[in-house]
This record gives sequence, C-alpha cells and structure tokens, in this order.
Amino acid sequence: MGTSTTRQRWADELAAIEAAGLTKRERALTGPQSSRIALATGSRLNFCANNYLGLADDPRIEQAAVDGIRTHGFGLASVRFICGTQDVHLELEHRVAQLLQRDAAILFSSCFDANGGVFEALFGAEDAIISDELNHASLIDGIRLCKARRYRYRNRDMADLEAQLQAASDARSRIVVTDGVFSMDGYLAPLDEICDLADRYDALVLVDDSHAVGFMGDGGRGTPWVFGVQDRVDILTGTFGKALGGASGGYVAAHREVVDLLRQRARPYLFSNTLAPSVVTGTLAALAIVEGSDDARERLHANGALFRGLMAEAGFDLLPGEHPIVPVMFGDAVLAGAMADELDRRGVYVTAFSYPVVPQGRARIRVQLSAVHTEQDVREAVAAFVAAREAVGGAAVTG
Ligand SMILES: *Cc1c(COP(=O)(O)O)cnc(C)c1O
Repeated sequence: MGTSTTRQRWADELAAIEAAGLTKRERALTGPQSSRIALATGSRLNFCANNYLGLADDPRIEQAAVDGIRTHGFGLASVRFICGTQDVHLELEHRVAQLLQRDAAILFSSCFDANGGVFEALFGAEDAIISDELNHASLIDGIRLCKARRYRYRNRDMADLEAQLQAASDARSRIVVTDGVFSMDGYLAPLDEICDLADRYDALVLVDDSHAVGFMGDGGRGTPWVFGVQDRVDILTGTFGKALGGASGGYVAAHREVVDLLRQRARPYLFSNTLAPSVVTGTLAALAIVEGSDDARERLHANGALFRGLMAEAGFDLLPGEHPIVPVMFGDAVLAGAMADELDRRGVYVTAFSYPVVPQGRARIRVQLSAVHTEQDVREAVAAFVAAREAVGGAAVTG
C-alpha cells in the first residue's frame, strides 16, 4: 500500500499540477478516429488528430487488419527473435525500406521505442550526439540512455549547430539528430543546411520524420525529399501511429549494417513484444494506399491551404508554413484555453497549448488538417473560430 507519507507526497504533487491548471484530461471517443468524432456529449468536427491522410478508419485498412487476425492470429506472445517473427513482419520491413529508399528497416512497438533503442546500440562514450533543443521527448530519452557525449543546439539555429559540431570535433564519430517537423510550430528542420554542416564536420544525420512520413515530399516519403537530401540522411525513424493508419508501431530505416546491429543490440527490440499481426497487415494496406496515389496528399495540402487562407483573411495570427499543422497564436494561456472551450461549444474539437509545452507568452491552438476534412468542414471550423473570438471578447483577441 505504500507508506502514508509517500502517498501524501504524490497527492500533493497532483494537487500542485491541478492548481497550476496543468492537469491533462482524457475525453473518451465512443467511435473511430475520423474527421467527425463521437463523444458522450455529442459529435465534434475533429481538428486535433495526427490522422493526416484520414486512414485511421479507412475500410480497406480495417479489412486488411481483420484478415490479418484470421490468417496470422491475434498475438504472437513472443519477442521477434524467439518466435515472434511472421512473414508479414518481414514484408512490412521490406516495404518501409522500399518506400524510404534505404537498404533495410527494422520494426519497433512504437517510434518512442525506436528512438529509445537506436542511440545506445550504435554509439558509445567516444562518440558525440548533437541534438535540436526541441526534439521529441523520445529522442531526448533515447540520447540519455546512451553513453555518448551530448550537445544541444537552439531550435533550427545553424550557427549554433556549427558551434556544437566544432565543440564535438574530437569525438570518434558525430551524429546530428533532428525532428523532420517540429510539432508545436509545424516548422520543418532545414535539412539542406543541416546536411551541409554535417558534411563539413564529418557527421552523420538522423531524422525522426513521424510528423511527415506519408504526406510530405515526393511520394509522401518525408522531409528529406522536400529538401532533396534523401541520399544524405543516414538514419530515418518514424511512426505508423500518425499518417500511416494511426494504429501503432515505429521503425528505423537505414544502411544495412545499422539495421543489422539494431537487431542484435536495440533493447526495446530485444526485450519487448512483437507488433500484433493485425497492426502489421493493416499498416501494409496503409502503405499500399500511400504508394498508390497522391490523391489523399493533395486533399490534405489543399485543406491546409484553404484553412490558412481563410483564417488569415479573418484576421487570425498564424505561424507561417506548408505543413498541415497550423498554429493559431493567442499569446495568453487563459485566452487560448477560453477559445478552445468556445470552439468545443460550437462543435469543433481543438487543443490549446501553453507553457511549458510552448514558450511563455506563446500560447496557441494547434489545428491539424486531414485529407478527410471536406471543404465544408474547413469553412465550418473557420466560422467557429470567428464566433468563438466574438464570444471571448472580440477583435482584441487576435495577435
Ligand atoms: C509521435 C512522435 C513519436 C512517437 O511515436 P509513437 O509511435 O507514438 O511512439 C516520436 N517522434 C516524433 C517526432 C513524434 O512526433
């Protein structure tokens, strides 16, 4: 049961989180993830999922997952190397490697696990890891688990990256680590400049492309293709839990020797259960859709452009960009929260983010578009933003 003083300490911590207004609450959907979701209190237009291509409830993928259960069972009850590898796991690894034009790929239960395992397996105390300060928590944790020297550079700041590369110049090997897309801003990492600096200082490059794979760059391959540096990025990590069907799973795609070494040494791979067969067969169907046509990508980017255009016209302050993450800036945390509440009342589900998730005074509502939003959905959302602004105090809100 724990000692009463320890339990009291935890209760105090929870009370402090609540008092600071930082308690995260879950809202239960009563149906599938989609552009319109069902909650106990009614339906909402959903603008806060990572369901970029709208594949989360795609009937073709659902059928492939059901078929996968029938042909390959529900679970494997094993890690990969004991008796948890099926033909479909190998097929998915092959297909990921093909899509991303790498030698090979290796599956993990999540991208969190991929990032948790990749560094410790490949780098030791003689090496240096140079990491963007806004990288995803899983990269930060993965780097912490590794004995390599750690250097951090300011977000997308190439002068600072160069300074850190210089500081790390005596290491045995160096790797620059970045998100392809920074999820709070929707900004892309400047991979062309990063690769130039990496070349100059003899460093490798790792890109976690979780918020891009499936829909950014040529064929939806990701941010390296946006910048034309696909042949200069050494290691790609990413998730199946966003655009690629949204179920679960992650991967590392890289040179043959990287993937082979991860199979021998990556701890989340060696000590955690294999991906469920239905997730694998469903994700294979998602990849077939992603590779088969540009239609969903075109709808997604058209929706993003429409939303950005209409919101700017209505006088809202947006962070600029090309990504379907569209941050609507309010500055003040209370205001951003009040706007999200008013939007919810008008049937539009979005999330407000404030400090410490974003810098102090930079509170925002992060809108995420999907290929399955209709033009009408987008127009309704913009109208709801305008009405919500009126409700919380008019034009003073903007900017
Ligand atoms: C979402 C995300 C992850 C985590 O992916 P999971 O498969 O859900 O664990 C890792 N890195 C980045 C950059 C992400 O956006």
